Amino acid sequence: MKIVRMSVLAAALAVLPALAQDLSMIDLALKALGEAGVPPRSCSTSANPSCSYVQICSDLSAQRNSPYLYENAAGERIPNFNYQALASLVMQCGKKNGLYDKAPATPISGLLDYARWLVEQPAELQVKLNRIDLAYADAAYGQTLSARLEGESQADYTTRQLTEAAQRAGIRIDEALTDAIERKVAYQLAMASASLQTAPATDWDKVPERVREVMQDPFLNPEILSQENEVGSRAREQFNKKAGEISNLANEVRAQTLQVLQDQKARYPERAESLEGMSVRLRTASVTFVVDPYELKNFCPSPNAFYDPTQHVLKICPQMMGMPKEHLRMVIGHELGHSVDPCGASCPLHVVFAQGETQYSIADLGSAFSGVPGIGTAVVAPGITYPENPFREVLSCLATPESLNARLADPVRARALLEEQLRLERAAGLDSARTEQLLAQLPRLMSDYAGCSILPGNSRQQEAFADWLAAEAVALSGSATNLTEVGGMFYAVECAGVTPDLASVIMPILQQNNCVGAGEQGGIENLLPDVYQAGMYLGQLQQIQDDSHPATVDRINRLFRMQPKLREKMGCGAEETSGSYCAP
Ligand SMILES: [Zn+2]
Repeated sequence: MKIVRMSVLAAALAVLPALAQDLSMIDLALKALGEAGVPPRSCSTSANPSCSYVQICSDLSAQRNSPYLYENAAGERIPNFNYQALASLVMQCGKKNGLYDKAPATPISGLLDYARWLVEQPAELQVKLNRIDLAYADAAYGQTLSARLEGESQADYTTRQLTEAAQRAGIRIDEALTDAIERKVAYQLAMASASLQTAPATDWDKVPERVREVMQDPFLNPEILSQENEVGSRAREQFNKKAGEISNLANEVRAQTLQVLQDQKARYPERAESLEGMSVRLRTASVTFVVDPYELKNFCPSPNAFYDPTQHVLKICPQMMGMPKEHLRMVIGHELGHSVDPCGASCPLHVVFAQGETQYSIADLGSAFSGVPGIGTAVVAPGITYPENPFREVLSCLATPESLNARLADPVRARALLEEQLRLERAAGLDSARTEQLLAQLPRLMSDYAGCSILPGNSRQQEAFADWLAAEAVALSGSATNLTEVGGMFYAVECAGVTPDLASVIMPILQQNNCVGAGEQGGIENLLPDVYQAGMYLGQLQQIQDDSHPATVDRINRLFRMQPKLREKMGCGAEETSGSYCAP
């Protein structure tokens, strides 16, 4: 039925004269979007025991034109973020043309160009931009963003930040990406200035139901949280309720990760001391939710959660909070896992306390506050070197090709970098004392911190261990789940087939109504000599290899699917196996 509806719409469009402005068409587009797709299927564990990444992606792609990709028996859903982006675009177009306003709108032209352009780009480029956003957010959390230079414009500064984030993420910047970054920055600046103007209130009754549902959902459209009206306060109420539930869930997951450590202590009593240090880290890590509009913009470009070692705190983005409980369980287990991953655990954890307030950090706040009256400091957990890690057998197993291929930091590459630097400094007559000192310390650094992705070689041990601990913790919980819920966000972000093909119908309508510019001609890359094409492809492969996360398909198929208790709980048949389980 949906397909018939779409083709009728497309046929209606085909006969419209170019540039004709017909507001009823926007309404029609919104209605099509609002009514598109079947309601999310209820896939309970028993009804849908799909146990492979490919099969799950294929199942979910049937819902590509719906606001939700999946719904379980409890009514929990995995949203379709691409649908949401499209709904937001159409909604803005309707608003621009005054369709849903209580008062006439002041049109803001050009704002939608970037969003329109983005949804039409190859998935590859969209993924790159997502990864740049994440790398940027990571650095913002770690407070390692470079400072704004004197006289540098806001646009130049933002462009430089995104470029540096791309480099950190190992993404090679080509012409297409330079162009994309330029567009993104221009869009952000335009949005910032537009938000200073007062927009007319929305008459929500005029917005089609399913689009309204998406746009008013604080977990899909977090901007709604800062609206000072009835819709905003309802969203805040919903948000606070969910935050309370997730805090309780986090304590449950925390108890399960502590149990994994206890079990390891029973296996290796001689490791009791280092395991106790790890337990302290898990017990003291706090959980917070991102609500501040500035933080939302910078740290939550997509469903996300972070562990920030400088504050020893786990931060959860609103878009993640609406996920099914069993997905949140995995995510919380993973992020708590970062507080004890082989890099986190190798750095001492400090505490500073004053007048009832306590702050934990891997930064040596003790030194910073030493001698300040009224402030106490201590090391609450000493660093455990990589070779001494109490889960060293698991870490070695995760590094094998039978498991996640989770490589360690690369001492050969690190040495080559330093030696080249030394050669250049000496040739240029520069002071090379620091480089020489680092070179002398290198064997110890590369051994003690072999699990740290910040060192050359981009170790995958941190991410692999965080996943491993999450799988162990989820296996210990009494609740039922399936591999679709465990992987939740991975599928919503990475499955190729979940992008709505409705876009090809909606976009021309937006163009007809001057909400977006006409499509651009491109494709020069297809005409380049084959060496360029091969080079671009190999460059992409290299970027993927450089990521500190193991490949998603391996995380799903070889880790979550292989944990024996979890596997049983998810109802995965014994025939669907790949890779080997890393037993503690
Ligand atoms: Zn992680």
